[in-house]
Amino acid sequence: MKRISILGSTGSIGQNALAVIQAHPDEFRVVALSTNANIEILYQQIKTFKPDAVCVSDVKAGLNLKSRLKDKGTRVFIGEEGLDPLVEDKDVDEILLAISGAGALKPLLKALDCAKVIALANKEALVMAGPIVMSKAKNKKAKIIPVDSEQSAIWQCLQGHPKNRIKKLYLTASGGPFRKTAAKDFERVSIKNVLQHPRWKMGKKITVDSATLMNKGLEVLEAMYLFDVRPEMIKIVIHPEAIIHSMVEFIDGVILAQLSITDMRIPIQYALSSPERLSNNLASIDFYKIKSFNFEKPDFKRFPCLGLAYRVARESGTAPCVLNAANEVSVAEFLKGRLEFIAIPRIIEKVLDRHRLIKEPRLDDIFKADTWARHQAYKFINKN
Ligand code: MG
Repeated sequence: MKRISILGSTGSIGQNALAVIQAHPDEFRVVALSTNANIEILYQQIKTFKPDAVCVSDVKAGLNLKSRLKDKGTRVFIGEEGLDPLVEDKDVDEILLAISGAGALKPLLKALDCAKVIALANKEALVMAGPIVMSKAKNKKAKIIPVDSEQSAIWQCLQGHPKNRIKKLYLTASGGPFRKTAAKDFERVSIKNVLQHPRWKMGKKITVDSATLMNKGLEVLEAMYLFDVRPEMIKIVIHPEAIIHSMVEFIDGVILAQLSITDMRIPIQYALSSPERLSNNLASIDFYKIKSFNFEKPDFKRFPCLGLAYRVARESGTAPCVLNAANEVSVAEFLKGRLEFIAIPRIIEKVLDRHRLIKEPRLDDIFKADTWARHQAYKFINKN
């Protein structure tokens, strides 16, 4: 029985992970859960899964939950620091880190320090501090297992192959809701258009990132750090069916691909069960129905976020952190109706142009760059 903690259990990944765990009661037990402020969902999860402990980062919501919980079998930790005891718990076999955004970096670093097995669903933390995270993982003998469907695909294709046999990584992308939208129509894109993703059902931040294709840009950075490859070895391929989740080309020209139906429970399940594979009740691919796979080149003109991601991948240092911070602010302001969709990459580019790159940042340089970039992004948006 694997003992699992889920940090960020009320989001899309967290809820899917609990569905996987519920479908495999003999394999997994939930030890701890956490949310930022979504105590309605967390309350239900506590009743169903009876974890030993939970953490609510938002203090007011945490106190509210504590007063409502009659069964005292679950300890409630409150505030950002409340995640620490959950991460440090020696009786946990694997931590699923599904907190969204930059807030995941501190718990990730803590989990690495504790030499944990970490199923990493969050991309922002790795994008912000990739080299620091990966070297810490190595030094502390902690293990990072990718949850993102693309990274999981590459990781599975790479099993048994040394790194120097890789020629290219192909990151597939569904293309998002604006794959066929003409450049001139991008000016009229609304929040509602953006939140209708054709293939994946996800949280709001990642849904906006999927529409700008910044999500794929972040995945380029994620793959660069996770698999230690140069940015020019990573190619993005638009694959609207979203059945091939990514591919690896080896030096002999052989390509391995990983395929499955489009359902996040599949990569989540493997991240929890690996190296074992467990059966489930999910559908199989029906090739007779699909008939054909399509591939397209991504359009860097209509989707400038892709170019920005490759730019910071080449610059490295603090640049990816700045891109991420400016993107998080721009997306949040777009969702509040304070910024137009087409302005998202423009704001990010302006902030990047102003940034003074630190090539080999320490952790405090990363946090400083993050704060600076957020401040700059707000400044440009307010001027807009
Ligand atoms: Mg993905």
